[in-house]
Amino acid sequence: MKMLENKNVIITGASRGIGKGIAQVFAQHGANVAFTYNSSVQPAQDLEDELTQLGVKAKAYKSDASNFDQAQDFVSEVIKDFGSIDVVINNAGITKDNLLMRMTEEDFNKVIQVNLNSVFNMTKAVLRPMLKQRAGSIINISSVVGVKGNAGQANYAASKAGVIGFSKSTALELGSRNIRCNVVAPGFIETEMTAKLDEKTVDGWRQAIPLKRGGTTEDVANACLYLASDLSTYVTGQTLNVDGGMLT
Ligand code: NAP
Repeated sequence: MKMLENKNVIITGASRGIGKGIAQVFAQHGANVAFTYNSSVQPAQDLEDELTQLGVKAKAYKSDASNFDQAQDFVSEVIKDFGSIDVVINNAGITKDNLLMRMTEEDFNKVIQVNLNSVFNMTKAVLRPMLKQRAGSIINISSVVGVKGNAGQANYAASKAGVIGFSKSTALELGSRNIRCNVVAPGFIETEMTAKLDEKTVDGWRQAIPLKRGGTTEDVANACLYLASDLSTYVTGQTLNVDGGMLT
């Protein structure tokens, strides 16, 4: 069964990794996908072609999620191209890890801007169209690190914890207009990036997870699918950990 037939979806940062996985699963479920990237021009074009071949409308947009004006312009373009927006996945994110002793102010601010300001920027941009249609599902990608904290990731943890607080507030403010806002907090997800790491180290991480494996981008995408679809029409303000039991 296709669960997102004729829904128009925005995904930020879908040129690779988890965002790409979400775009693929959503398109398989009939969603039209407008997605952004920052610098990966060719991978974004390839994904646009791949999704279009599934019979849905798909378009890649270069838009820096951390830039307020670019987010507003991007959403205006999407409304012109797609007509409406039903679902937003705020996925774009970066890390700039370091111990606090060595973390620069610049690295702290940059991570907050890309991971947290981006969520504000996009939520502001889709607010009016979603209020008008009295419907919408906003899904923000946080991390287990935002729930638990992590040494060497104070900037990232702060940004991802911020995403959870922002999302709960959005759910409270917009619930009366039938706009839902939820968070997906992935644990250790294996992507092209982790494939380059030392196999022994990665296997150590896997063994520390109750389900004894890293997650896949599809695992995260399926959680988003639930929150985007009409299966979750009475669910808002929640954080769904997709972590193989890591935080249990
Ligand atoms: P990734 O492979 O590094 O991909 C990041 C994506 O975000 C890329 O498409 C990138 O575009 C885009 N992006 C980065 N900065 C951007 C900006 N300023 N504006 C627009 N797009 C931007 O990362 P990932 O592992 O898939 O992670 C995706 C999300 O999941 C992030 O929010 C991350 O914090 C979260 N997460 C990941 C894991 C994990 O284990 N992988 C665990 C927990 C949470 P370009 O290709 O153009 O640079």
